[in-house]
Amino acid sequence: MAGVDFSRLPSVDRLLAEDAGRALAAQFGAREATNALRAALDDARDAMKSGAACPAPEAVLVAADQHLAARAMPSQRRVFNLTGTVLHTNLGRAVLPEAAIEAVVEAMRHPTTLEYALDGGARGERDDHVRGLVRELTGAEDACAVNNNAAAVLLVLATHAKGRETIVSRGELIEIGGAFRLPEIMRRANTRLVEVGATNRTHLKDFEEAITPKTGMILKAHTSNYIISGFTKEVPAPELAALAKKHGVPLFDDLGSGTLVDLSRYGLARERTVQDALKDGADLVSFSGDKLLGGPQAGFIVGQKDLVRACAKNHLKRSLRLDKLRLAALEATLRLYRNPDTLHETLPTLRFFNRKRPDMCAQAQRLLPAWQAFLGEGWEAGVMDCASQIGSGALPLDTLESAALFAAPQAKRKGKGLDALAAKLRSLPVPVIGRIAEDRLMLDLRCLEDEATFLAQLGSAA
Ligand SMILES: *Cc1c(COP(=O)(O)O)cnc(C)c1O
Repeated sequence: MAGVDFSRLPSVDRLLAEDAGRALAAQFGAREATNALRAALDDARDAMKSGAACPAPEAVLVAADQHLAARAMPSQRRVFNLTGTVLHTNLGRAVLPEAAIEAVVEAMRHPTTLEYALDGGARGERDDHVRGLVRELTGAEDACAVNNNAAAVLLVLATHAKGRETIVSRGELIEIGGAFRLPEIMRRANTRLVEVGATNRTHLKDFEEAITPKTGMILKAHTSNYIISGFTKEVPAPELAALAKKHGVPLFDDLGSGTLVDLSRYGLARERTVQDALKDGADLVSFSGDKLLGGPQAGFIVGQKDLVRACAKNHLKRSLRLDKLRLAALEATLRLYRNPDTLHETLPTLRFFNRKRPDMCAQAQRLLPAWQAFLGEGWEAGVMDCASQIGSGALPLDTLESAALFAAPQAKRKGKGLDALAAKLRSLPVPVIGRIAEDRLMLDLRCLEDEATFLAQLGSAA
């Protein structure tokens, strides 16, 4: 330590007086610039203690600039989702339609009629902006909207089964990610869980025998992210509805994804729609806004008017309500459903589902030379068939034929390099998120629309 001469390092004040120092202060503010220069000088001192030469003032300024640029980088950033999972919960689920983006920008920039009725100026209700559309599209008597589907389930149970019992089949005690576990939500809603049947088989008489004067609700939950197969029995929804009706107990169907259209039009398996669940006789149905629906995070409660109104009037609703931005996005998204014939163009989620393998194959061939150049020596690269997933626990076993760019380490670097390659892709200006399987890194192209940006950054990194 003794013997290292720090006296030739410039002072913070001297650096701030340089042109580049003044530019940093002008761009980031004097305090940020000062702190960054101090940090850069600390780093220089540490390096000198380990034997490095005293850096030139310009080098300290460059280091400070890099430090400030890194600090200015937003935490939540745009990425390329090439994982092959279209509705990726960790990557923000549905990409919103242009109409929703425009509506959100307008609502951010200006005051709105959020709770204001223009005809007469009386105080309106915020959910009115989507209530009519949801009723029209689902055929439900009434509708309300909350923060997400987990909140919708909580609100329904807390409103209609609080202090009472809720009957659920043992085959439907779902966990959707760590954050949503049915038994846990029931505890929060203060309703006692009454499990009936066995994991694989539940009969109508199991429900019937469990109904007592303490029953508040029968809950049917969509087993969104798993399948029970083999020797199984599930009570069909209409039979459960008839039983509930006979005993004067409401039937609540938590649909999870809740699509409003027949997905077989887009090459997917037919999933029960919200309309189906209502026709089957559920008194209340809940579903998400940002799964198959393709909108912003939200949860809907639809069904019988008096039951929905009771949910909307619950004090809890205030804590679970949507803000003007998401209501704007939701309204614009729902409006697109008035023209189902163009949904596969206007709604990004359906647009992604609707892409066919030859389309992705052609795209992969276009991108292959740039991909090879980016990889450089030591990699086998090419185009391969793969299968995309829907994601978010929707249609867990259903996949879509897709195509990917892949990279596999050549024999001499076997087993090494895949993680490093994935990290390199994540460090691009717009991080690229792929997936590693069977000793390859794959980029499923189903969700790649902005090909120009993708190509440009591969090119500049090569
Ligand atoms: C996804 C899902 C939920 C949770 O919905 P969020 O909108 O993520 O809160 C609840 N129930 C079922 C059946 C689901 O599939």
